[in-house]
Amino acid sequence: MDGLTLTLEGRPLTYFPAGVPVPAGAGIANFDENEDRALAGHPRLRRVLMRLLPSLPVLYYYLHFSDGTDLHRLDEKVADGTAADEDVRAALLGEAQSVVCPHCAAVIRAIVVDTGHPLFASDRGRRLREHRFRQECPVCGGHLSLYILEVIDAP
Ligand SMILES: [Zn+2]
Repeated sequence: MDGLTLTLEGRPLTYFPAGVPVPAGAGIANFDENEDRALAGHPRLRRVLMRLLPSLPVLYYYLHFSDGTDLHRLDEKVADGTAADEDVRAALLGEAQSVVCPHCAAVIRAIVVDTGHPLFASDRGRRLREHRFRQECPVCGGHLSLYILEVIDAP
């Protein structure tokens, strides 16, 4: 893998700076090559790979920031090995999912917080309180109660 190593809360992750594609065919269970390429330079997202246990497959996640964290600066710090937990204090971990709007039934492809993940579990409440979410359906404008970080695609 061409990503960089980043350790958060003592857990090793593979971090992909802006513009660096996650290699296709690496056997990542939830990898979508088109989404990876489309979101590789996103101003509020960085892509990471993580294995929960040595016996489990690698999974693909997004670190999301809504507080204006300078992600190019973060890329530099990860590259030179100086990034620390404090640098991602505002981040939440999300996964791409298809969600259905309860008002108009539109199927929306979105990045949604993984609220059961061990990473950031110790202060997830604070992170969720401080984060800004996408709370309107992009199709009908109805309120969405999920923790939606970004909408990737909608009909
Ligand atoms: Zn809707």
